[in-house]
Amino acid sequence: RIKEHGKNNFQLYTDVMNEDAIQHLQLERELRKAIEREEFVLHYQPQVNVSTGQITGMEALVRWQHPERGLLSPIHFIPLAEETGLIVPIGEWVLKKACEDGQRWLQEGRKPMRMAVNLSLIQFQEQDLVEKIHQILVDTGLDPRYLELEITESIAMNNVEQVVAKLEQLVNLGVQISIDDFGTGFSSLSYLKKFPIHKLKIDRSFITDITSDPDDASIVSAIVAMANSLKLDLIVEGVETKDQQLYLHRLGCFEMQGYLFSRPLPAQMLEQLLQNWL
Ligand code: C2E
Ligand code: MG
Ligand code: MG
Ligand code: MG
Repeated sequence: RIKEHGKNNFQLYTDVMNEDAIQHLQLERELRKAIEREEFVLHYQPQVNVSTGQITGMEALVRWQHPERGLLSPIHFIPLAEETGLIVPIGEWVLKKACEDGQRWLQEGRKPMRMAVNLSLIQFQEQDLVEKIHQILVDTGLDPRYLELEITESIAMNNVEQVVAKLEQLVNLGVQISIDDFGTGFSSLSYLKKFPIHKLKIDRSFITDITSDPDDASIVSAIVAMANSLKLDLIVEGVETKDQQLYLHRLGCFEMQGYLFSRPLPAQMLEQLLQNWL
């Protein structure tokens, strides 16, 4: 390439590289500052049991309240946070905040609801993860059975014995484990019988066209059957229309999360939603 196009093109190429690298470094620096200054906020998205109409839980979803660029979605900083390891302190903040809010809502006498928190593979691999989560539960007073950790199928790519041991330690704390984005990983399904998990969360990509695409419907049916026979709980994410809700209900899905019910909301707005629900 360099020979073909001469020195100028090469120069151009390195300039582009540098610009990318500079932006990358800038964002990393800002992200470090954001951790010190606690510039993050959690939004909460309710999870609904459509046969009872009750809110049974919620998922905590992090956003970055950037001083100049406004509220940033996780797609803009979670990948970098994972690359740099900054997901560890960010994730710890998320866990603390979610457990704090969850405990406050329980103490206010609201119906028991689970609090689901996303856990990145990097966090899962940390030596002191179990200790840290235990400490957060003690500090916030949240009953562990209300904390659900969402992990992805990517953990199945790791040393099986180590993963099983760690999951068992977490389960022994009393927390629940769910598999997020289920159906999109490249791992074999054999982990489902080896890992102590409680719930599958069917990925949104199977839901988008479920009412028109028989393949998506077949896949969801198969997952429902499998979850039932393995005695795993099940939830579907990304439910946006009433048609999808009815269709999924007929396929045997009862727990749902999606814009149809509510977008992820700041804590205060979620409190209002809980107040006015049913
Ligand atoms: P996820 O864990 O699969 O979360 C669900 C995502 O789908 C959320 O996007 C949510 O806003 C969105 N969503 C919910 N219902 C619907 C719907 O009906 N339609 C559509 N189109 N989207 C819907 P969000 O908040 O942008 O988060 C994106 C991803 O970022 C999450 O996917 C998760 O992988 C990651 N993430 C978010 N918060 C955290 C966190 O605290 N820690 C870690 N490690 N990752 C996080
Ligand atoms: Mg999730
Ligand atoms: Mg998901
Ligand atoms: Mg995800």
